[in-house]
Amino acid sequence: MTTVPLLRTEIPGPRSRELHARREASVPPGFGITLPVFVARAGTSTLEDVDGNTLIDLASGIAVTSVGAANPRVRESVAAQLDLFTHTCFMVTEYEGFVRVAEWLNENVPGDFAKRTGLFSTGAEAVENAVKIARAYTGRPGVLVVDEAYHGRSLLTMAMTAKEHPYKTSFGPFPGEVVRGPNANPLRGGDAETALTEIERIIAGHGPEHFAALVVEPIQGEGGFVVPAPGFLPGLRRIADAHGIVLVVDEIQTGLGRTGALFASAHEGVAGDLTLTAKALGGGLPLSAVTGRAEIMDAAHAGGLGGTYAGNPLACAAALAVFEVLEDPGLLPRVARIERIIRDHLEPLVAEAAFVAEVRGRGAMMAVELADPGTLAPRPDLAQRISAACHAAGVVTLTCGTQGNVIRLLPPLVIDESILETGLTILTTAIRSIAAEEAAA
Ligand SMILES: *Cc1c(COP(=O)(O)O)cnc(C)c1O
Repeated sequence: MTTVPLLRTEIPGPRSRELHARREASVPPGFGITLPVFVARAGTSTLEDVDGNTLIDLASGIAVTSVGAANPRVRESVAAQLDLFTHTCFMVTEYEGFVRVAEWLNENVPGDFAKRTGLFSTGAEAVENAVKIARAYTGRPGVLVVDEAYHGRSLLTMAMTAKEHPYKTSFGPFPGEVVRGPNANPLRGGDAETALTEIERIIAGHGPEHFAALVVEPIQGEGGFVVPAPGFLPGLRRIADAHGIVLVVDEIQTGLGRTGALFASAHEGVAGDLTLTAKALGGGLPLSAVTGRAEIMDAAHAGGLGGTYAGNPLACAAALAVFEVLEDPGLLPRVARIERIIRDHLEPLVAEAAFVAEVRGRGAMMAVELADPGTLAPRPDLAQRISAACHAAGVVTLTCGTQGNVIRLLPPLVIDESILETGLTILTTAIRSIAAEEAAA
């Protein structure tokens, strides 16, 4: 294996810069960019750009290419389907792949009850359909979400997303009936008891029969990889049960092995009435799912659910290959090792660098929060500087957090461990050198 990162030019290189200039002339600036590098091909742990540079991938296209961006099993499965047909529309004529994906999810999603699965294309569509189904089942309008939540960019899911900028600025008005409760963010003093009491108070304020759905991420993704205080998710489960509210667990970022369990809700022993998957589900092809209690899923009338591309055959073929990788008994232990390796590299920084407030996460979903010591005032400027240093050195990292002050790591679950170590060494070197600059300033 060649050593990576392999840098032949500066990042971005001349060919990427040329293509980026064309992009700027042809694509509106509303589409943001983390790293303006054009990719030519991918490996298991790496991305090769159009200038011949090989970058270490610690982002997986935002937790999508968990089995690698060029997984041979995904390629073979999709290629075989490609030889047969690309599309029929499942609501016009049927195909087995859709049913097989539904069967796998019904069997593997948490919850010891009869389930059904509906397939869609994007995560936001899964969230929207979960709300439709919960409303049909309960006959109620309200949707309860929490602080720092991220559920998507469509009009309803934007309303459910907490972060104002860039997701919501200038795009309102938003659909009504979305109400926000507190989150239990341990770093910022959130505890489960206080948050749950406040959520009970909000529900009482709207009347117990107001809310159709309570939607929550078991570990927040875009909101900053916030692992809720222990007891928060089980508490939400109890509250939902007490008031007949459908608990919707948004596992779009956390699901399918990302946190070292097949589903992150299992870490807390919680099963949603409805569980949402997307991102890693299609191995890079657009596919999302709502999986849940048969009696809730069956509440939507015939013809009420679907979409032209919902559960596209190529995406279903990709998902079936992703499931094979997930069923490999070596995979989840591998994710646990990724967490250990990341913690070994990053945790010493909490004592070393005053602005490293916390290292947190689970499995291959780990983050470093940057904030002023004592006040915990967010430092998005440092997240930007650290990311820029990683990018220049050939490591693809992402930021997140409602204040943009968190570096998040989402390596492919199949990443080569020595490549992961190299990427982490580059990240910790960047953090240490910025800590030295800060200390000198
Ligand atoms: C990415 C994400 C979504 C939205 O998925 P899209 O495919 O971008 O529509 C929703 N919820 C969570 C938790 C996500 O991480």
